[in-house]
Amino acid sequence: MRINMVAFGALAVALGWWSPSPDPVRGLAAPRHPAAVAGRAEIGLEWEPVDGALDYEVLWSTERDPRAGKAARIEGVQPGFVHRGLEPGVEVQYRIAARSAEETSKPSRKVSATPGGPYGLLRLGTGRVVDCAEGEVVEVPIERRIHTVVCAEGYLEEELAAGTFGRDVESWEQDVFTVWPYDELREAFVVWTLATPSAEHISATNPQRAATAFLVPLTEDGRGIHSSVPLGGDTARRVWEALADFPFPAEEFYPRGGQTSMIAKNLLVALLVLDPARGRSGLSGRARRLENPRDSGERISASIAHNRVHELSHALARLQDEYLDHDQTLGADLPRKPKSAVISNVVKDPSEEQLPWRHLLVGGEINPDVEGLVGAFGDPRIGYHSEFKCLMNGTHDNADFYGGRGNLRVRRFCNFCRELMFLRIYERVGILDDTGRSLETWTRRYRGPFYELHGFAVPDTVPQQNSEGEPVFQDCRR
Ligand SMILES: [Zn+2]
Repeated sequence: MRINMVAFGALAVALGWWSPSPDPVRGLAAPRHPAAVAGRAEIGLEWEPVDGALDYEVLWSTERDPRAGKAARIEGVQPGFVHRGLEPGVEVQYRIAARSAEETSKPSRKVSATPGGPYGLLRLGTGRVVDCAEGEVVEVPIERRIHTVVCAEGYLEEELAAGTFGRDVESWEQDVFTVWPYDELREAFVVWTLATPSAEHISATNPQRAATAFLVPLTEDGRGIHSSVPLGGDTARRVWEALADFPFPAEEFYPRGGQTSMIAKNLLVALLVLDPARGRSGLSGRARRLENPRDSGERISASIAHNRVHELSHALARLQDEYLDHDQTLGADLPRKPKSAVISNVVKDPSEEQLPWRHLLVGGEINPDVEGLVGAFGDPRIGYHSEFKCLMNGTHDNADFYGGRGNLRVRRFCNFCRELMFLRIYERVGILDDTGRSLETWTRRYRGPFYELHGFAVPDTVPQQNSEGEPVFQDCRR
C-alpha cells in the first residue's frame, strides 16, 4: 500500500501551530493531485493542500472545461468538499484554485465524475491523519480509509421521500463526529448513505418477520434488536448484497484467527432502524459481524440501531460493553487470561500483567479523580476495566454498584477506550501493520507520543493501591 509521509511543517499547519506565508516570488501554486469521488447525487473533491493557501475555490461545469471566469464557482472550501444536489447521470468537470489573502492560483488540472448509483456521499475524509509516533501527517489512500455506510432499515418509501432518514443520518453524523477521538480522526472516514426502502415497518407484533430491507429481527417486547442477528443469516446476506456494487468494497481484512478474524478494515456498516412509534431512528442497539454469504469467511462489522456512538465503537474498534451487570457476560472471544493478541477494554483477570490499561491505574494527571479509577466496574467476578465513566457504559446506570440512575451517562470515552480507538483506526487504515502484536507496538512506539500530543502525562505502570497496599480493584466485590 501507499502511504505518503508529509513533512513536519504540514503537521504543524494541520494542528494550527504554524501558518507559512506564500513565497512572493513564486506565487501560490495550483493544487496538485485533484480527485473526484462520485456518490448518488454528490461529488466529493480532494486535492493536496497548497502551502500558503487560506482556502480554495472550485470551478465547475456540466458543459465545458471549467476555466476561471467561464464556469460556476464555489468559494471558500477545503479539501474533502462535497458538492451536493447534482443530477445523477450528468458528468461534472472541475478545476480547483488555491486562494490566499493576496492572490488566487492558477486552476488545477481538470477532474470529472458522474454522480449516480444508490450510495449517497455524506462526508469525504481526506485521509490526512496524524501518525503520532512519527509526528507526521499520513495520507491514507482512499481505498484504505474507513468507508462507513449508513443504511436505512424499516423506512418506508414515503418516509425516505419525506426526509426522515436524511434527518436521522444528520443526527447520527453529528453524534459521532463530535466525540473525541472521532472528531480528531474524522479525516480517516468516508461516510456514505444507502436509503433502501422497506415494504413495511419493523414490528413489535411481528418481531421476526417484518418485510424490512435488511430483515433485522426485534426482541419479543419490540424494544430492541434481537441478540440473535446471526453471523451468516438473512441480515448478513442482505447487507452483503446491498454492498455488491459499492465503489470501495471490502478488500482489506484482518488476518484469520482471534477477536478480529477476517473483519474488513476498510468497510463498516451502520444500520439505522426506524422506530415507528417515534417516527425516527431508535430502538436499543447491537453490534454484529456479518459474514459474506459466499462462505469466504469475510466479515463486515455492523452497528445496528440506536446508542449510535456506542454501537459504532463496538463495530469499529471491537470495544466491549463496560456495564458489568449481574446478567452481563464478556464476549466469548475473551479468554480467561488475555494473550498478547487480545486487546480489550475489559478483561477477566485483574492481575497487573494482564491489564492492558494498567498504565492508567495510577491516576495522576490523566485521571486525577482516583475514586473514579478503580479497575473494576460492577461485579468484579464478571470483569474489570479502567474507569467509571465511558460511552461504552452506554445508558446503563449500574446503579446496583455505583452512582445511581443517570450518574454514569456521559458523552466521553474512558482513556483506555480512547487509546484503543486510535490503535484500531491506525490498524484499519494501515498505519499500524498486521504483525498480530499491535498492542506491543502501540505500547512501545505510540503510547508516549500519543499522550504527549494530546497533552496527557504518561503514567507509570503501577496499579492503584489501597492503604493496605492491595490493588483497589479487588475491593468492590459485593
Ligand atoms: Zn471505555
